Amino acid sequence: MSARIIGHEDIVRELAALAASEEPPHALLFAGPDGTGRTALAIEYALRLNCERLNPPTTAGASLWGADSSLLPPPSSPGPCGECRPCRLILEGTHPDIIALGPGDTLCRPRDGESHAKHPDSRDIRICQVRGMIDLVARYPFEARHRVIVIDPADRFGHEAAHTVLKTLEEPPGHTVFCLVTAAPEALLETIVSRCRRIEVRPVPRARIEAGLVERGFDPDLAARAAETSRGRPGRAIEFARHPDMMGDRGRLLERCARVAAGPLRERFAYARDLADRWRSDRHAILAELDAWEAFWEERLRQGVGGGQGTVALAGCVEALRAITTARADLQANVMARPAFELMLLAFPRVTLALSPEEESAAYA
Ligand SMILES: [Zn+2]
Ligand SMILES: [Zn+2]
Repeated sequence: MSARIIGHEDIVRELAALAASEEPPHALLFAGPDGTGRTALAIEYALRLNCERLNPPTTAGASLWGADSSLLPPPSSPGPCGECRPCRLILEGTHPDIIALGPGDTLCRPRDGESHAKHPDSRDIRICQVRGMIDLVARYPFEARHRVIVIDPADRFGHEAAHTVLKTLEEPPGHTVFCLVTAAPEALLETIVSRCRRIEVRPVPRARIEAGLVERGFDPDLAARAAETSRGRPGRAIEFARHPDMMGDRGRLLERCARVAAGPLRERFAYARDLADRWRSDRHAILAELDAWEAFWEERLRQGVGGGQGTVALAGCVEALRAITTARADLQANVMARPAFELMLLAFPRVTLALSPEEESAAYA
């Protein structure tokens, strides 16, 4: 199994089979919550497609021997080597054909003659970027067998951009694989989703994350705490293990969530202002606070599904979780923090019962 990925053994096996197949799919959709390992899995796919040891070059010389099956690698060959040139460049994040496309101005290509200000802080993936992408995919990759474009978050296209992406997926250019990453697959055009091989990336069991952190050399106590706090998200767990102060006082945060959710509107605005002030000086702490909010609403959602008393309508919880995802993406795209927090807090339903922090069960234990 891949040492680079914590958990997801079944998905890694699926990606290995897809990459080794006659015609690897040209579009994959990795759907799942932030921090579960979606991007790591997309990179794993890129490695499998491009590793020289998994895909020995078929030069004229080699093809002379092609008929001799004894020279082929065994069918159950291990994962990408991590050492050949493509593997190293991909793992370093410097491969010229492995491209991350997200909100900002990566690949931005203005129309001819159009004056067009750069937009590093934009919130969406814009049509100018999609134009740049189409230009790019029309050409051969610099050196890769398969160019891989990782689009994250793939739910951030404007109308025109989404339809242009759809056209590209309908008539896929050769040599290019699109990996779409999203926490909100329902926000994508149905027609885009149906063009992709869909991979559901689910939370990883706590014990598996803990073991993965220990394998990476983290102290066992710290690994246990980080795994617990991450609620099934290996990416988050690694961040927590690297910055233990991010974990903060979980119980205190959840109590605050309960207070704000039950409080009047003006309290929410005051809280949004406070978040925005602290965002400037301590991003880690605020991201941990957003995680606590996520845990808070996920717990309400579970209670709602269970039909417990004092539950919030399910739709309200789902809406709240979506608002957190949006706020996080906005903040990462450097939009103004205060309106982002206000929008998020206004989307939260009002909770009437204050709940004790003990109710936050270890859901992925
Ligand atoms: Zn390799
Ligand atoms: Zn642009």
